[in-house]
Amino acid sequence: MRKVSIFGATGSIGQNTIDLISRQPDTYDVVALTGGRNIKQLAQDAKRLGADVSVTAFDDCLEDLRAALAGSGIHAAAGQAALIEAAARPADWIMSAIVGAAGLAPGIEALKQGATLALANKETLVCAGPLVLDTARQHNARLLPVDSEHSAVFQALVGEDMASVERIIITASGGAFRDWPLSELAGATVEQASNHPNWNMGQRITIDSASMFNKALEVIETKEYFGVRPEQIEVLVHPESTVHALVGFRDGALMAHLGAPDMRHAIGYALHWPERLDLPVSRLDLAQLGQLRFNTPDEDRYPALRLAREVMQRGGLSGAIFNAAKERALDHFIERRIRFPDMADAVAAVLERFEAENGLIDAPLTLDNVKQTDHLARKWVDETVFQRAG
Ligand code: NDP
Repeated sequence: MRKVSIFGATGSIGQNTIDLISRQPDTYDVVALTGGRNIKQLAQDAKRLGADVSVTAFDDCLEDLRAALAGSGIHAAAGQAALIEAAARPADWIMSAIVGAAGLAPGIEALKQGATLALANKETLVCAGPLVLDTARQHNARLLPVDSEHSAVFQALVGEDMASVERIIITASGGAFRDWPLSELAGATVEQASNHPNWNMGQRITIDSASMFNKALEVIETKEYFGVRPEQIEVLVHPESTVHALVGFRDGALMAHLGAPDMRHAIGYALHWPERLDLPVSRLDLAQLGQLRFNTPDEDRYPALRLAREVMQRGGLSGAIFNAAKERALDHFIERRIRFPDMADAVAAVLERFEAENGLIDAPLTLDNVKQTDHLARKWVDETVFQRAG
Protein backbone atom coordinates (compact mmCIF):
# COMPACT_ATOMS: atom_id res chain seq x y z
CA MET A 1 0.00 0.00 0.00
CA ARG A 2 1.23 3.47 -0.85
CA LYS A 3 0.94 5.97 1.99
CA VAL A 4 -0.55 9.28 0.81
CA SER A 5 -1.56 12.57 2.44
CA ILE A 6 -3.58 15.39 0.91
CA PHE A 7 -3.15 18.98 2.07
CA GLY A 8 -6.07 21.16 0.96
CA ALA A 9 -8.23 18.05 0.56
CA THR A 10 -11.52 19.97 0.57
CA GLY A 11 -10.55 22.26 -2.33
CA SER A 12 -10.81 21.84 -6.06
CA ILE A 13 -7.43 20.09 -6.49
CA GLY A 14 -7.90 18.13 -3.27
CA GLN A 15 -11.27 16.78 -4.37
CA ASN A 16 -9.91 15.79 -7.78
CA THR A 17 -7.04 13.98 -6.04
CA ILE A 18 -9.52 12.15 -3.80
CA ASP A 19 -11.54 11.23 -6.88
CA LEU A 20 -8.47 9.50 -8.35
CA ILE A 21 -7.26 7.70 -5.25
CA SER A 22 -10.73 6.51 -4.26
CA ARG A 23 -10.95 4.68 -7.60
CA GLN A 24 -8.13 2.39 -6.35
CA PRO A 25 -8.92 1.93 -2.65
CA ASP A 26 -6.63 -1.11 -2.31
CA THR A 27 -3.60 0.82 -3.57
CA TYR A 28 -3.57 3.75 -1.15
CA ASP A 29 -3.32 4.06 2.60
CA VAL A 30 -4.44 7.58 3.54
CA VAL A 31 -2.39 9.13 6.33
CA ALA A 32 -3.54 12.77 6.63
CA LEU A 33 -6.28 14.87 5.09
CA THR A 34 -6.31 18.60 5.78
CA GLY A 35 -8.79 21.36 5.05
CA GLY A 36 -9.96 24.74 6.22
CA ARG A 37 -13.55 25.59 7.05
CA ASN A 38 -15.38 22.93 5.05
CA ILE A 39 -15.54 20.53 7.98
CA LYS A 40 -18.43 18.47 6.62
CA GLN A 41 -16.46 17.53 3.50
CA LEU A 42 -13.22 17.00 5.42
CA ALA A 43 -14.80 14.62 7.93
CA GLN A 44 -16.80 12.78 5.29
CA ASP A 45 -13.68 12.11 3.18
CA ALA A 46 -11.54 11.23 6.19
CA LYS A 47 -14.08 8.59 7.21
CA ARG A 48 -14.62 7.29 3.68
CA LEU A 49 -10.89 6.97 3.03
CA GLY A 50 -10.00 5.78 6.55
CA ALA A 51 -7.43 8.54 7.20
CA ASP A 52 -5.27 8.35 10.33
CA VAL A 53 -5.55 12.07 11.03
CA SER A 54 -7.70 14.94 9.86
CA VAL A 55 -6.59 18.55 10.37
CA THR A 56 -8.37 21.85 9.95
CA ALA A 57 -6.16 24.91 9.56
CA PHE A 58 -8.43 26.91 11.85
CA ASP A 59 -8.56 26.47 15.62
CA ASP A 60 -12.17 27.64 15.82
CA CYS A 61 -13.22 24.69 13.60
CA LEU A 62 -11.72 22.01 15.85
CA GLU A 63 -14.83 21.33 17.92
CA ASP A 64 -16.92 20.82 14.79
CA LEU A 65 -14.30 18.49 13.32
CA ARG A 66 -14.11 16.46 16.54
CA ALA A 67 -17.89 16.16 16.60
CA ALA A 68 -18.04 15.12 12.95
CA LEU A 69 -15.36 12.44 13.49
CA ALA A 70 -16.71 11.16 16.82
CA GLY A 71 -16.55 7.37 17.06
CA SER A 72 -14.48 6.99 13.87
CA GLY A 73 -11.11 6.59 15.62
CA ILE A 74 -9.65 9.30 13.36
CA HIS A 75 -7.50 11.81 15.20
CA ALA A 76 -8.75 15.41 14.81
CA ALA A 77 -6.42 18.39 15.11
CA ALA A 78 -6.29 22.09 14.25
CA GLY A 79 -3.93 24.96 13.59
CA GLN A 80 -0.54 25.57 12.01
CA ALA A 81 1.43 23.29 14.35
CA ALA A 82 -0.98 20.45 13.62
CA LEU A 83 -0.56 20.99 9.85
CA ILE A 84 3.21 20.76 10.25
CA GLU A 85 2.89 17.65 12.41
CA ALA A 86 0.65 16.06 9.76
CA ALA A 87 3.20 16.90 7.04
CA ALA A 88 5.90 15.15 9.08
CA ARG A 89 3.87 11.91 9.34
CA PRO A 90 5.59 9.33 7.16
CA ALA A 91 4.03 9.19 3.69
CA ASP A 92 5.30 8.24 0.23
CA TRP A 93 3.33 10.84 -1.69
CA ILE A 94 1.91 14.14 -0.45
CA MET A 95 -0.38 16.46 -2.39
CA SER A 96 0.27 20.14 -1.67
CA ALA A 97 -3.06 21.79 -2.55
CA ILE A 98 -3.60 24.38 0.16
CA VAL A 99 -4.37 27.73 -1.45
CA GLY A 100 -1.91 30.59 -0.98
CA ALA A 101 1.29 31.12 1.01
CA ALA A 102 -0.19 28.96 3.80
CA GLY A 103 0.93 25.96 1.74
CA LEU A 104 4.63 26.77 2.06
CA ALA A 105 5.49 25.58 5.59
CA PRO A 106 3.67 22.20 5.38
CA GLY A 107 5.28 21.66 1.95
CA ILE A 108 8.77 22.24 3.34
CA GLU A 109 8.03 19.87 6.23
CA ALA A 110 6.85 17.20 3.79
CA LEU A 111 10.11 17.53 1.86
CA LYS A 112 12.10 17.18 5.09
CA GLN A 113 10.76 13.67 5.58
CA GLY A 114 11.91 12.79 2.04
CA ALA A 115 8.41 12.32 0.61
CA THR A 116 7.44 12.95 -3.00
CA LEU A 117 5.63 16.28 -2.98
CA ALA A 118 3.06 16.78 -5.73
CA LEU A 119 3.02 20.55 -5.97
CA ALA A 120 -0.24 22.22 -6.94
CA ASN A 121 0.47 25.09 -4.53
CA LYS A 122 2.45 27.33 -6.87
CA GLU A 123 2.98 29.88 -4.09
CA THR A 124 5.52 27.48 -2.53
CA LEU A 125 8.04 28.08 -5.34
CA VAL A 126 7.07 31.72 -5.88
CA CYS A 127 7.70 32.64 -2.24
CA ALA A 128 10.76 30.53 -1.55
CA GLY A 129 11.91 28.64 -4.67
CA PRO A 130 15.63 28.26 -3.82
CA LEU A 131 14.87 27.33 -0.19
CA VAL A 132 12.33 24.70 -1.26
CA LEU A 133 14.60 23.17 -3.90
CA ASP A 134 17.55 23.07 -1.45
CA THR A 135 15.37 21.34 1.14
CA ALA A 136 14.30 18.76 -1.44
CA ARG A 137 17.93 18.14 -2.43
CA GLN A 138 19.15 17.85 1.17
CA HIS A 139 16.48 15.32 2.09
CA ASN A 140 16.48 13.39 -1.16
CA ALA A 141 12.85 14.31 -1.70
CA ARG A 142 11.18 14.66 -5.07
CA LEU A 143 9.07 17.59 -6.22
CA LEU A 144 6.58 16.86 -9.01
CA PRO A 145 4.65 19.67 -10.69
CA VAL A 146 0.85 19.57 -10.71
CA ASP A 147 0.04 22.93 -12.23
CA SER A 148 -1.15 21.87 -15.70
CA GLU A 149 1.42 24.06 -17.50
CA HIS A 150 4.34 22.79 -15.44
CA SER A 151 3.20 19.20 -15.68
CA ALA A 152 3.03 19.73 -19.47
CA VAL A 153 6.58 21.13 -19.58
CA PHE A 154 7.81 18.31 -17.34
CA GLN A 155 6.26 15.76 -19.70
CA ALA A 156 7.69 17.47 -22.80
CA LEU A 157 11.14 17.27 -21.19
CA VAL A 158 11.14 13.52 -20.56
CA GLY A 159 14.39 12.16 -22.00
CA GLU A 160 15.64 15.64 -22.94
CA ASP A 161 18.72 17.51 -21.79
CA MET A 162 17.92 20.89 -20.16
CA ALA A 163 21.00 22.31 -21.90
CA SER A 164 19.21 21.97 -25.25
CA VAL A 165 16.14 23.93 -24.10
CA GLU A 166 15.87 27.35 -25.72
CA ARG A 167 12.54 28.51 -24.36
CA ILE A 168 9.45 27.46 -22.45
CA ILE A 169 6.06 28.73 -23.54
CA ILE A 170 3.15 28.53 -21.13
CA THR A 171 -0.35 29.29 -22.28
CA ALA A 172 -3.16 31.24 -20.65
CA SER A 173 -6.84 31.24 -21.49
CA GLY A 174 -6.95 35.00 -21.01
CA GLY A 175 -9.58 34.61 -18.28
CA ALA A 176 -13.03 36.11 -17.97
CA PHE A 177 -12.11 39.55 -19.37
CA ARG A 178 -10.01 38.54 -22.36
CA ASP A 179 -12.36 40.22 -24.83
CA TRP A 180 -13.61 43.09 -22.67
CA PRO A 181 -12.79 46.68 -23.67
CA LEU A 182 -9.97 47.86 -21.38
CA SER A 183 -12.05 50.85 -20.32
CA GLU A 184 -14.68 48.54 -18.77
CA LEU A 185 -12.33 46.56 -16.50
CA ALA A 186 -12.74 49.05 -13.67
CA GLY A 187 -16.42 48.10 -13.49
CA ALA A 188 -15.83 44.31 -13.44
CA THR A 189 -17.62 42.55 -10.58
CA VAL A 190 -16.45 39.66 -8.40
CA GLU A 191 -19.09 37.42 -9.97
CA GLN A 192 -17.90 38.26 -13.48
CA ALA A 193 -14.25 37.66 -12.54
CA SER A 194 -15.16 34.32 -10.94
CA ASN A 195 -16.43 32.89 -14.21
CA HIS A 196 -13.64 31.07 -16.05
CA PRO A 197 -14.19 30.39 -19.76
CA ASN A 198 -12.66 26.86 -19.74
CA TRP A 199 -11.52 25.55 -16.35
CA ASN A 200 -13.57 24.76 -13.28
CA MET A 201 -11.39 25.83 -10.31
CA GLY A 202 -11.51 27.47 -6.88
CA GLN A 203 -12.73 31.09 -6.79
CA ARG A 204 -9.38 32.69 -5.94
CA ILE A 205 -7.44 31.09 -8.77
CA THR A 206 -10.29 31.85 -11.18
CA ILE A 207 -10.12 35.57 -10.37
CA ASP A 208 -6.33 35.35 -10.60
CA SER A 209 -6.80 33.95 -14.10
CA ALA A 210 -8.86 36.97 -15.12
CA SER A 211 -6.12 39.34 -13.88
CA MET A 212 -3.34 36.93 -14.99
CA PHE A 213 -1.85 37.09 -11.53
CA ASN A 214 -2.16 33.32 -11.75
CA LYS A 215 -0.04 33.28 -14.92
CA ALA A 216 2.40 35.69 -13.31
CA LEU A 217 2.87 33.22 -10.43
CA GLU A 218 3.29 30.43 -12.97
CA VAL A 219 5.99 32.31 -14.86
CA ILE A 220 7.97 32.66 -11.62
CA GLU A 221 7.23 29.01 -10.77
CA THR A 222 8.61 28.01 -14.22
CA LYS A 223 11.83 29.89 -13.61
CA GLU A 224 12.28 28.25 -10.21
CA TYR A 225 11.24 24.71 -11.07
CA PHE A 226 13.05 24.34 -14.40
CA GLY A 227 15.98 26.64 -13.60
CA VAL A 228 15.67 28.71 -16.79
CA ARG A 229 16.39 32.41 -17.25
CA PRO A 230 13.41 34.83 -17.19
CA GLU A 231 13.92 35.74 -20.86
CA GLN A 232 13.52 32.07 -21.83
CA ILE A 233 9.91 32.06 -20.59
CA GLU A 234 7.07 33.21 -22.84
CA VAL A 235 3.34 33.46 -22.28
CA LEU A 236 0.76 33.07 -25.03
CA VAL A 237 -2.97 33.66 -24.78
CA HIS A 238 -4.63 30.50 -26.06
CA PRO A 239 -8.41 30.73 -25.75
CA GLU A 240 -9.04 26.99 -26.26
CA SER A 241 -6.90 25.92 -23.22
CA THR A 242 -5.92 22.79 -25.13
CA VAL A 243 -2.16 23.25 -25.50
CA HIS A 244 -0.97 23.66 -21.92
CA ALA A 245 2.68 24.43 -22.62
CA LEU A 246 5.40 24.06 -25.24
CA VAL A 247 9.13 23.55 -24.98
CA GLY A 248 11.37 24.98 -27.71
CA PHE A 249 14.73 23.28 -28.31
CA ARG A 250 17.98 24.56 -29.82
CA ASP A 251 17.26 22.75 -33.12
CA GLY A 252 14.03 24.74 -33.52
CA ALA A 253 11.69 21.87 -32.55
CA LEU A 254 8.69 22.74 -30.40
CA MET A 255 7.21 19.99 -28.22
CA ALA A 256 3.65 20.76 -27.19
CA HIS A 257 1.50 19.07 -24.56
CA LEU A 258 -2.22 18.92 -25.37
CA GLY A 259 -5.07 17.70 -23.24
CA ALA A 260 -8.62 18.40 -22.14
CA PRO A 261 -8.93 21.06 -19.40
CA ASP A 262 -9.21 18.56 -16.53
CA MET A 263 -6.79 18.78 -13.59
CA ARG A 264 -7.08 15.03 -13.03
CA HIS A 265 -4.61 14.60 -15.88
CA ALA A 266 -1.77 16.52 -14.19
CA ILE A 267 -2.70 15.15 -10.74
CA GLY A 268 -2.82 11.60 -12.11
CA TYR A 269 0.49 12.02 -13.92
CA ALA A 270 2.14 13.10 -10.65
CA LEU A 271 0.39 10.29 -8.75
CA HIS A 272 1.49 7.51 -11.09
CA TRP A 273 4.83 8.98 -12.24
CA PRO A 274 7.05 7.63 -13.71
CA GLU A 275 4.36 5.35 -15.15
CA ARG A 276 1.40 6.43 -17.23
CA LEU A 277 -1.80 4.71 -16.13
CA ASP A 278 -5.41 4.99 -17.31
CA LEU A 279 -7.06 8.22 -16.27
CA PRO A 280 -10.77 9.09 -16.38
CA VAL A 281 -10.29 12.23 -18.47
CA SER A 282 -12.00 12.96 -21.76
CA ARG A 283 -9.99 12.47 -24.94
CA LEU A 284 -9.45 15.38 -27.30
CA ASP A 285 -11.20 15.40 -30.65
CA LEU A 286 -8.96 17.76 -32.60
CA ALA A 287 -11.08 17.62 -35.75
CA GLN A 288 -14.09 18.75 -33.76
CA LEU A 289 -12.05 21.46 -32.10
CA GLY A 290 -11.10 22.70 -35.57
CA GLN A 291 -8.68 25.45 -34.63
CA LEU A 292 -6.18 26.47 -31.99
CA ARG A 293 -5.50 30.21 -31.59
CA PHE A 294 -2.51 31.92 -29.99
CA ASN A 295 -1.91 35.63 -29.25
CA THR A 296 0.65 37.69 -27.42
CA PRO A 297 -0.82 38.96 -24.13
CA ASP A 298 -1.39 42.70 -23.85
CA GLU A 299 0.47 43.91 -20.73
CA ASP A 300 -1.89 46.90 -20.37
CA ARG A 301 -4.69 44.40 -19.88
CA TYR A 302 -2.52 42.09 -17.75
CA PRO A 303 -0.02 44.25 -15.79
CA ALA A 304 0.62 41.27 -13.48
CA LEU A 305 2.84 39.77 -16.20
CA ARG A 306 5.07 42.85 -16.22
CA LEU A 307 5.28 42.70 -12.42
CA ALA A 308 6.31 39.02 -12.58
CA ARG A 309 9.24 39.94 -14.84
CA GLU A 310 10.31 42.64 -12.38
CA VAL A 311 10.12 40.13 -9.54
CA MET A 312 12.24 37.57 -11.40
CA GLN A 313 14.89 40.20 -12.15
CA ARG A 314 14.80 41.47 -8.58
CA GLY A 315 15.08 38.10 -6.81
CA GLY A 316 15.54 37.96 -3.02
CA LEU A 317 12.27 38.01 -1.13
CA SER A 318 10.41 39.86 -3.89
CA GLY A 319 8.47 36.69 -4.83
CA ALA A 320 7.10 36.37 -1.30
CA ILE A 321 6.21 40.08 -1.25
CA PHE A 322 4.56 39.87 -4.67
CA ASN A 323 2.47 36.87 -3.67
CA ALA A 324 1.41 38.23 -0.27
CA ALA A 325 0.46 41.61 -1.74
CA LYS A 326 -1.48 39.84 -4.49
CA GLU A 327 -3.32 37.62 -1.97
CA ARG A 328 -4.30 40.60 0.17
CA ALA A 329 -5.33 42.74 -2.81
CA LEU A 330 -7.49 39.82 -3.95
CA ASP A 331 -9.16 39.69 -0.49
CA HIS A 332 -10.02 43.38 -0.87
CA PHE A 333 -11.40 42.86 -4.36
CA ILE A 334 -13.52 39.89 -3.22
CA GLU A 335 -14.75 41.97 -0.26
CA ARG A 336 -15.59 44.73 -2.79
CA ARG A 337 -13.31 47.38 -1.28
CA ILE A 338 -11.24 47.88 -4.44
CA ARG A 339 -11.85 47.66 -8.17
CA PHE A 340 -10.42 44.95 -10.40
CA PRO A 341 -7.50 47.01 -11.84
CA ASP A 342 -6.64 48.33 -8.37
CA MET A 343 -5.22 44.91 -7.44
CA ALA A 344 -2.20 45.29 -9.74
CA ASP A 345 -1.71 48.92 -8.66
CA ALA A 346 -1.67 47.88 -5.00
CA VAL A 347 0.88 45.10 -5.63
CA ALA A 348 3.13 47.46 -7.63
CA ALA A 349 2.94 50.08 -4.87
CA VAL A 350 3.94 47.55 -2.18
CA LEU A 351 6.90 46.27 -4.23
CA GLU A 352 8.08 49.88 -4.72
CA ARG A 353 7.68 50.63 -1.02
CA PHE A 354 9.83 47.61 -0.08
CA GLU A 355 12.54 48.89 -2.42
CA ALA A 356 12.38 52.38 -0.97
CA GLU A 357 11.87 51.74 2.74
CA ASN A 358 12.92 48.31 3.77
CA GLY A 359 16.11 46.28 3.38
CA LEU A 360 14.14 43.12 4.17
CA ILE A 361 13.72 42.41 0.46
CA ASP A 362 17.42 41.42 0.37
CA ALA A 363 17.41 39.44 3.62
CA PRO A 364 18.37 35.74 3.44
CA LEU A 365 15.63 33.48 2.08
CA THR A 366 14.46 31.73 5.27
CA LEU A 367 10.98 30.68 6.31
CA ASP A 368 11.02 33.33 9.06
CA ASN A 369 11.95 36.10 6.64
CA VAL A 370 9.28 34.93 4.19
CA LYS A 371 6.72 35.12 7.02
CA GLN A 372 7.92 38.59 8.05
CA THR A 373 7.81 40.04 4.51
CA ASP A 374 4.47 38.34 3.90
CA HIS A 375 3.02 39.98 7.02
CA LEU A 376 4.38 43.42 6.15
CA ALA A 377 3.28 43.24 2.51
CA ARG A 378 -0.30 42.44 3.58
CA LYS A 379 -0.25 45.28 6.11
CA TRP A 380 0.96 47.72 3.46
CA VAL A 381 -1.74 46.65 1.02
CA ASP A 382 -4.29 47.33 3.77
CA GLU A 383 -2.78 50.76 4.39
CA THR A 384 -2.93 51.61 0.66
CA VAL A 385 -6.53 50.44 0.40
CA PHE A 386 -7.76 52.15 3.56
CA GLN A 387 -5.91 55.39 2.75
CA ARG A 388 -7.68 55.52 -0.61
CA ALA A 389 -11.03 54.71 0.96
CA GLY A 390 -10.59 57.20 3.79
P1 NDP B 1 -9.47 25.87 -3.30
O1 NDP B 1 -9.76 27.24 -2.83
O2 NDP B 1 -10.50 25.14 -4.05
O3 NDP B 1 -9.02 24.95 -2.04
C1 NDP B 1 -8.04 25.38 -1.15
C2 NDP B 1 -7.81 24.38 -0.04
O4 NDP B 1 -6.99 25.00 0.98
C3 NDP B 1 -9.09 23.96 0.69
O5 NDP B 1 -8.91 22.67 1.20
C4 NDP B 1 -9.17 24.98 1.82
O6 NDP B 1 -9.97 24.54 2.89
C5 NDP B 1 -7.72 25.04 2.23
N1 NDP B 1 -7.35 26.27 2.90
C6 NDP B 1 -7.87 27.53 2.73
N2 NDP B 1 -7.22 28.42 3.50
C7 NDP B 1 -6.28 27.71 4.18
C8 NDP B 1 -5.30 28.09 5.15
N3 NDP B 1 -5.13 29.35 5.58
N4 NDP B 1 -4.49 27.11 5.65
C9 NDP B 1 -4.62 25.82 5.25
N5 NDP B 1 -5.56 25.41 4.35
C10 NDP B 1 -6.36 26.36 3.81
O7 NDP B 1 -8.11 25.98 -4.13
P2 NDP B 1 -7.67 25.16 -5.41
O8 NDP B 1 -7.85 23.69 -5.16
O9 NDP B 1 -8.26 25.77 -6.61
O10 NDP B 1 -6.12 25.49 -5.47
C11 NDP B 1 -5.20 24.94 -4.53
C12 NDP B 1 -3.79 25.28 -4.98
O11 NDP B 1 -3.56 24.65 -6.25
C13 NDP B 1 -3.55 26.78 -5.22
O12 NDP B 1 -2.24 27.10 -4.91
C14 NDP B 1 -3.79 26.94 -6.72
O13 NDP B 1 -3.08 28.03 -7.26
C15 NDP B 1 -3.23 25.61 -7.23
N6 NDP B 1 -3.78 25.17 -8.50
C16 NDP B 1 -5.13 24.99 -8.64
C17 NDP B 1 -5.66 24.58 -9.86
C18 NDP B 1 -7.12 24.29 -10.02
O14 NDP B 1 -7.52 23.80 -11.08
N7 NDP B 1 -7.96 24.56 -9.04
C19 NDP B 1 -4.79 24.36 -11.02
C20 NDP B 1 -3.39 24.50 -10.73
C21 NDP B 1 -2.90 24.91 -9.51
P3 NDP B 1 -11.59 24.84 2.96
O15 NDP B 1 -12.09 24.87 1.56
O16 NDP B 1 -12.07 23.67 3.76
O17 NDP B 1 -11.76 26.14 3.69
